Order: sequence, then C-alpha cells, then structure tokens
Amino acid sequence: MSPPQPHFLVLTFPLQGHIAPALRLAKRLLAVAPDVLVTFSTTEDAHGRMFPAKPTDHGGDDDGAEEDDGRLEFLPFSDGTEAGDDARPLDARIASFHAAGAHGAAEIVDALAARGRPVTRVVYTLLLPWAAAVARERGVPSALYWIQPAAVLAVYHHYFHGHGGAIAEHRHDPSFVVELPGLSPQMIGDLPSFLTDSTDPSDVFHSFFTTIRDLIETLDKESPKATVLVNTCQEMEVGALAAMGAYDVLPLGPVLPSGDESGIFKPEDDAEYMEWLDAKPANSVVYVSFGSLASMGREQLDELLLGLEESGRPYLCVIRKDVKVALAEEEAEMHRRVKNGVVVEWCDQVQVLSHAAVGCFVTHCGWNSTLESVASGVPMVCVPRMSDQRMNAQLVVREWRVGVRAQVDGGGVLRAAEVRRCVDEVMGNSEAAAELRQMAGKWKGIVAEATGKGGSSDQNLMAFVDGA
Ligand code: UDP
Ligand code: UDP
Repeated sequence: MSPPQPHFLVLTFPLQGHIAPALRLAKRLLAVAPDVLVTFSTTEDAHGRMFPAKPTDHGGDDDGAEEDDGRLEFLPFSDGTEAGDDARPLDARIASFHAAGAHGAAEIVDALAARGRPVTRVVYTLLLPWAAAVARERGVPSALYWIQPAAVLAVYHHYFHGHGGAIAEHRHDPSFVVELPGLSPQMIGDLPSFLTDSTDPSDVFHSFFTTIRDLIETLDKESPKATVLVNTCQEMEVGALAAMGAYDVLPLGPVLPSGDESGIFKPEDDAEYMEWLDAKPANSVVYVSFGSLASMGREQLDELLLGLEESGRPYLCVIRKDVKVALAEEEAEMHRRVKNGVVVEWCDQVQVLSHAAVGCFVTHCGWNSTLESVASGVPMVCVPRMSDQRMNAQLVVREWRVGVRAQVDGGGVLRAAEVRRCVDEVMGNSEAAAELRQMAGKWKGIVAEATGKGGSSDQNLMAFVDGA
C-alpha cells in the first residue's frame, strides 16, 4: 500500500502577525512537492476577516479550495466566540479560546479523516499549546511553527529549565544582565516582556506567560524530541539554534510571501503610495510602521510626524485606522501637518520594503517586520516596545548590525529629535551609515541564499516534508 499523501493541518492563532507567516509557510509546503495537501485553519472570526466576501462554512470536499489545484483548503475552527464577544474582557476571551479551540481543532482533524484526507502532520503556531495534545491523541505527529527568533524560544526554554529563578528575582531591574546558554548576555529589560511584566494572575499579560509555560511543557512531553520549525535561518542565529538541543529544530525561514498578499485581510488598496514611491530617488524614503497591533498616544503621533518632517526626507508612514479613530485624528489636520510624506492606513509592506526608493525602516521590530526588512536589505531604526520586540532589536543592532536602536524618554515617548537623529544615523553620509547599508546588503544576500534552492532553510523545509 502506498503511504498516505502528505497532508499538513496548519493551525494558527488568530492574529495578523501569526496568520501571515503561517499562510506563507503553507504556500511553501505546497511548493515542495505536487502531492502535498494543506488545510489552513484559524478561528472562524479571523477567517471571516481574511475572506470578508466568502462564507466561513466550507463544507464538502473541494469547495473550500481557493487555489493550488485544490491542494490548499481553508477550514476555520470554532473557538466558541460569539458575535459581540469583543466587549468581553480579553483574559476571559483568551480562556474560552483555549478551552473551545482545542475541541474545534480536534473536530477538524476528525472531519478530514472521515473525508478520506487524513492529516499526516499538525503544524501549529506558538499560542496554541493544546495543539500537540490534540494531534497526539489521534496518533498524528505534530510540529511547532515558532514565528519568533530562535533566541526567544531559547530564552523561554531556559526560563522553564533552571534559569527562571534568577530572571524572576531581578525582574524589576531592567539593566541587570543575565547569561543564558547560546545567547549573548541579555539585559532583563530586553527579555520577552511576558516573562517579566506581571506575576499577577488576573493580569492579561500573565495569561500569555502561562500559555508559554504550557507550550514549553508540551514540547517537553514529545518523544523522542519535539519538532520545532523556526522562522529564521541557520546563518542568522547560529548560537541560539545550537543551544536548542532539547528540540529537533529546523530553521526554514525567513518565510516570505511567494505572491501578492495584499488581498488577504483587506480589499486591494488603490496603491497610490506605490506611484509616489516610483517617483522618488533610490534609498531616499523613510518607511514607518509599528505593525498590526501597537497603539499610539496623541503625544507620540505628534512627535513622530514632527520628527519625520524635520528629518527633511520623504517618508511613507502607516497610521492604522483604529489608531486614528482612537485619537479622533482629523484627516484635514493630518494633511496640514504632513508636508513631506504620505500617510496610509495600511500598505503592502513587503512590496514597499522591496522598492528601491526605500532607504530606512522605522519599525517596532515585530519579527515579521524584522525579517521582511532584513530580506529586503533595508536598514532599520528600532523602536521596540513589548513581547519579543526588544530581543529582535538586539539581533538587528548587535548581531547583524543592520540598524540602530532609538531611545524613548522616561515616559516611553519617542521624541521628534530622536526620530531625526536615528534616521540621520541610518541614511546620512557618515561612515557608520555606509557600514549599516553595507551590512544590510550583505544580510539580504545571506538570507536569499539560505531560502534559495539548496540553501540551508530550503533543505530543512524539504527534509520536513519528506518526513511527513
Ligand atoms: N489592518 C489592516 N489590514 C490588515 C490587517 C490589519 O488594515 O491586513 C489594520 C486595520 O487598521 C485594523 C488593525 O490593523 O483595524 C487591526 O487589525 P486586526 O485584524 O488585528 O483586528 P480588527 O481591528 O480587524 O479586529
Ligand atoms: N504589515 C503590512 N502593512 C502595514 C503594516 C504591517 O502588510 O501597513 C504587515 C507586515 O508586513 C508584517 C505584519 O503586518 O507581516 C506585522 O507583523 P509583525 O510581526 O511585524 O508585527 P505585529 O503586527 O505582530 O506586532
């Protein structure tokens, strides 16, 4: 009897920064061999936002297929969310998400088996610590898809394997330095914020902490070793990857979009900003975005726009609609202040970063943004805030030397003068700026090689599919 067709069930937490890299991985898996099947599954709610015009209920055999000869199917899982749940406190929503999500995902595995398309591997993103157990109970092997740097997984691993005491003890001392295997010395304040932010069980940040703890426990239970796919490449994180012997680690990134993805979450933009970019000289434009989640206060918005104007360079700045709404920002008022730049509510960031006119990225250092910038050879001004962002910024500044880190003031505000200083440091005529640009070009090449045919990440991806 021939072995079953390789069929990956990709399960992801319903956030943009998780769905995007998961979908990119799904497409890469499909590209490896013509017989690979992928079922892509996030919550019904997020699925509805991905495909606003389509029904969320894909019953039947092939009618959920969107492309790839029917080899990619979108099948959302129910997490028990009801309309209007947005108003419930976040921690309550997260608790019911975990309880109902495990059940919803199990139903999908069973439904696919009943349809004669059994899942051969479950691949799940980092905030679904129950996914491995769902797979295990059904005799299906699983792999964690880690969508942050290996260094961050290493920190979490070490925290729950002998180093947690020291970190917890000094968690109120941000400049205290800890030494962890495989990593350069880290200041407490730069560690993933969920480890140090809160020990108060009623705090929503604490629920992220317990989720991560559960995830590490899940990995420990896999035998002989948990498989962890990491959205990084060998060359970018030699030390951290080497220190991860507890897991079977496969760096296979940066996993970038293989085609246009602007239509995934939002109707196509009119993309006037692309025409605007086309008219600008090479490396002249500052691109500014703080990702899909970060909020911004009034003072911060004012300082940012002032700093960009004062930099004297053209800029393309993303201010999300929800940020504008929260600030009651008037369109006319914004236009009055924005003279030398363009402000958009959203853009196709990968396309923007690969545009020749873009010479600098002012970023919050979300891991997706960081990878996209490195892959495009664009040097960065790092403005990290929370989660893994400070560690990501350390990699950018210290390990790869492709960016500078902006300092915020005592109130956490990035001041106009600092915006200007950092942009100059990256785009100016100094030797240091030239070196940053040169390093950015070097890393772009390294990443292209790793992900190209026969490169380290490409080989790991092939090996993973072969083993499924
Ligand atoms: N957003 C967007 N396009 C996307 C993803 C996010 O414009 O593809 C912006 C949009 O302004 C949205 C915000 O990011 O309000 C948060 O998006 P998310 O989907 O995380 O949450 P939502 O606001 O839809 O509940
Ligand atoms: N992004 C985008 N357009 C924007 C802003 C962000 O396409 O205007 C995408 C960006 O390319 C990245 C994702 O949103 O893939 C943000 O993920 P990241 O991990 O950087 O940050 P998060 O949103 O999770 O904080």
